[in-house]
Amino acid sequence: MRCHDPLLPAFGSAAISEKEWTVDEIAQLTVVSFSDKNATPSTAGSAPVESWQNLSPSPVSGEAARVAAYDVEVPALLTPAPKRPASGRYRGASGNLQLELRVDVDGRRPTRRVSGDLFRVAGGTTSYFGSFIIHTPTITATPTTVIIKGSGQFSFITLHETVTVTIPRVAPLAPPAAAQVIFTDNAGGTGAVYTCPFVSPFFRTVQYEQDSVQGTAPFISYNTGQLSSGGPARVLSVVSAYAEAGIEVQVAGVSNIIPTDGSGPDAKWSNAELHASMAQQFSLWRNDPQWKVWLLIATRHENAGVRGIMFDQEGRQRQGCAVFHDLIQGDTALAQRAALRTYIHELGHCFNLLHSWQKSLAVPPQPNKLDALSWMNYVQNFPDGEAAYWAAFPFQFEDSELVHLRHAFRDNVIMGGNIFGVGAAEFDAQAFAEPLVDNSGLKLELKARKNFVQSEPVVVELKLSTTDLRGKRVHTRIHPNFGFVQLAIQLPNGQTAPYRPLAEQCAETETSVLDAENPAIYSSAYIGYGKKGFYFDQAGLYQLRAVYYALDGSEVISNTLMLRVRSPLDRTEERIADLYAGNDQGALFFLLGSDSEYLASGNKDLETVVVEHGDHPLAVYAHLVQGINAARQFKTVTDDKQLKLRKPQDKEAIEKLSEVVNASKQGAGVDNITLDMTMRRLARAQHRYGDDSAANATINDITDFFGKQLSHRPLVARKIAERANELKTELLGDGAVAKGPADAKKGGRSSRKSE
Ligand SMILES: [Zn+2]
Repeated sequence: MRCHDPLLPAFGSAAISEKEWTVDEIAQLTVVSFSDKNATPSTAGSAPVESWQNLSPSPVSGEAARVAAYDVEVPALLTPAPKRPASGRYRGASGNLQLELRVDVDGRRPTRRVSGDLFRVAGGTTSYFGSFIIHTPTITATPTTVIIKGSGQFSFITLHETVTVTIPRVAPLAPPAAAQVIFTDNAGGTGAVYTCPFVSPFFRTVQYEQDSVQGTAPFISYNTGQLSSGGPARVLSVVSAYAEAGIEVQVAGVSNIIPTDGSGPDAKWSNAELHASMAQQFSLWRNDPQWKVWLLIATRHENAGVRGIMFDQEGRQRQGCAVFHDLIQGDTALAQRAALRTYIHELGHCFNLLHSWQKSLAVPPQPNKLDALSWMNYVQNFPDGEAAYWAAFPFQFEDSELVHLRHAFRDNVIMGGNIFGVGAAEFDAQAFAEPLVDNSGLKLELKARKNFVQSEPVVVELKLSTTDLRGKRVHTRIHPNFGFVQLAIQLPNGQTAPYRPLAEQCAETETSVLDAENPAIYSSAYIGYGKKGFYFDQAGLYQLRAVYYALDGSEVISNTLMLRVRSPLDRTEERIADLYAGNDQGALFFLLGSDSEYLASGNKDLETVVVEHGDHPLAVYAHLVQGINAARQFKTVTDDKQLKLRKPQDKEAIEKLSEVVNASKQGAGVDNITLDMTMRRLARAQHRYGDDSAANATINDITDFFGKQLSHRPLVARKIAERANELKTELLGDGAVAKGPADAKKGGRSSRKSE
């Protein structure tokens, strides 16, 4: 099922329009083809956010371009002498307020909108005040002036909701004229008046810094004519692709090459390492919204198949992303095309653009579009296949994305502004309503413990199974970090919040077939902490639901999971709850530990839990975080762009992870999926430490323990045993004796490749 905006006619994808529109044509177009058919009434006074409901009229491509190209004949007398375009950015002051105005009524893909940001100046300081957008203005073009007038949406309350922008028209090579902006109320009373000189033909400007790890080759440009595509041939780079969208990307600073001393050119990056490097980088900037973004070209992600990642963190949202060279390297046209798409896509997340199939999760919601011809879609998700996508893709953002990039309220776009996916209104829980008909052949189940102590990490198990035993192809990456499964949490106060992981991982689509032999895949996810902070920090009853976005476009809704968070019962629980409660600790639970000095206070509090109450059942989480982190090497990009590498600390890892394993086997610890992962990492640490007999015992223990524990789910037990035996061969060689169910080595597809 393909989802379209229900209010728009079902026209095909946006046609590329290289045409430079004049404001005269746009003014004509507004009258001829939009005023009756498509224009929506002004929604002034509704939620103060950019809104897809108001996207009509849409930018001049798609239907409009078609209409304009073939149907509209602009009368000859209305084709005046060429003039300088009116579109661009203007800035001026009135009293202690400054207005940055964006006029978008001619040029390339004009969205026929006007928007602005207001700033308050007090003494030597300037602070952001608010934004407005006029979605459906009336555009009048005479030979001497352009007048744009309409009511808009404001991020603040005002009586003067009507905006009139007047721009004198000048010859193409004359200096640009200033725009006059007048705000009026419903009775025609005049409010503020601004005179705004022209600043730039771009709507926004962002500074871009790019660093690369030694051994990677940063992408430079790709000629879109090298392979067939849906648009004209042109050479695109990060700078020119965003320039086409009206966004100026200024390359700031030098592009550093980070030496890889000691870690090897193949080094894999964990989320914790990327997070630490980004925190380090952001520390050089002010912890404020800024038009500034950092892209790191790393070698590869520890999860094979991850092409790119975008990080949010408390207070420093969407300021940085990373792309992984191993999946997009090479000089071939295919590789260069993939690299271009990945760079633009990850940076798109930093501008707060969601994936095309997740748009219904945006605030406010937009229609999901699996068939979007956009940088933000997954090529592999395209309903007619990857080849069809590339053949039709014009290398551009979609119309609604263009409106967002150019005109959305400042905090919804600027790096360091609102968290990913959130504008200003409330989350729409409707996306999680039970479908009326479900022929998807799939079932999604959520499971968790029924009770948690306040600030105890909440982990849920996800199970995706087929109800159609003839076989059903599914995404294997069902962890919420990958975006194919989305969770919603209803809080005790009745509000519903989407769970948003700290990191947005953009991975290649990996699929497998669920059938009688292999009926289900599982994942477990820590969901206690995400972009908005802690989700379960209040005592009370929580309800959880999830949606899985299937390959055929079905949206498979899970059961409703109820879980209760209770207040601490005694002083010790209260003490541990306090020590677990900070933002740093939340990030550490999400990342399974980190060396980052920016999370040092969290690490200190976890250590206090271990020192003071190491035997308490709640201490198992501190042991887990410390043990997993000790078991891995840890690299960070330092201030002076060096790679700092810490080797695994196996002795400490063995101690900590053993604590977790022992507690969990006695039923007072982590869930089964986490326990399996912990035991495997313990075996690796024991092997590195030179204790192969202990490693052997740990691996045998995996098979024995889960064989008993999961006797009612023999298929799952068998799969765990198979993977344990693979690990044994890897660590201890082919001579090692396989252990477990007699048929453990037989066939079977492993559903989880990495851990
Ligand atoms: Zn993505």
